[in-house]
Amino acid sequence: MSLAGNSPSRRGLMLVLSSPSGAGKSTIARHLMAEDKDIVLSVSVTTRARRPSEIDGVHYHFIDQPTFNKLRDRGELLEWAEVHGNCYGTPRAPVEEWLTSGKDVLFDIDWQGADQVAKAMPEDLVRIFVLPPTMAELASRLVRRAEDAPDVIAKRLANARAEIQHWRDYDYVLINKDLQTSLEKAQAILYAERMRRARTTWLEGFVDDLLQQA
Ligand code: 5GP
Repeated sequence: MSLAGNSPSRRGLMLVLSSPSGAGKSTIARHLMAEDKDIVLSVSVTTRARRPSEIDGVHYHFIDQPTFNKLRDRGELLEWAEVHGNCYGTPRAPVEEWLTSGKDVLFDIDWQGADQVAKAMPEDLVRIFVLPPTMAELASRLVRRAEDAPDVIAKRLANARAEIQHWRDYDYVLINKDLQTSLEKAQAILYAERMRRARTTWLEGFVDDLLQQA
């Protein structure tokens, strides 16, 4: 479904979803992508070890530290950050191609990455922060996921409080109590942002034509 389809002359927007691990942003991202053909997911590179359920090239490009350093030093990453002791970064080239071709791009990145993108490309950026309803719910989602070792889960929970402090830097905040409701809200944000006058430069021609009509 796409309530606000792309005009070919529209430059895409960058939709950043950030949250502490376990607040549900990856699930929201997956559903947004599944239901809207005009948005694509930016697949990050990471030095983190692959989780059993993850597929290389789909969830991340899993790379080693020297390869990461090379990409970063050559300026091939749009942004990068160290999170929970691992390096993560967004490959620059695909993002630039998608935006130019009118595709919107979804980013599952942390506040440090969102901050760098905000400085580099402020006019293309929409930032959503996803909060858990309670800290107990966040902890139980991390444990339920059962994909990380107990010490990793403890580290992620400790970092969650620090990450939540950055909620004010975002344009929108979702409290993810119920997945379906959060998904509908994220879609509403995306549709509204697509229709912002500043992004719809093609409207100039449309209105000119309209006013020529009898
Ligand atoms: P996870 O290891 O759980 O997949 O991700 C840990 C954190 O790293 C999440 O908050 C996620 O949003 C963030 N992250 C994933 N990819 C990137 C990236 O390319 N850049 C930045 N800055 N953060 C990322």
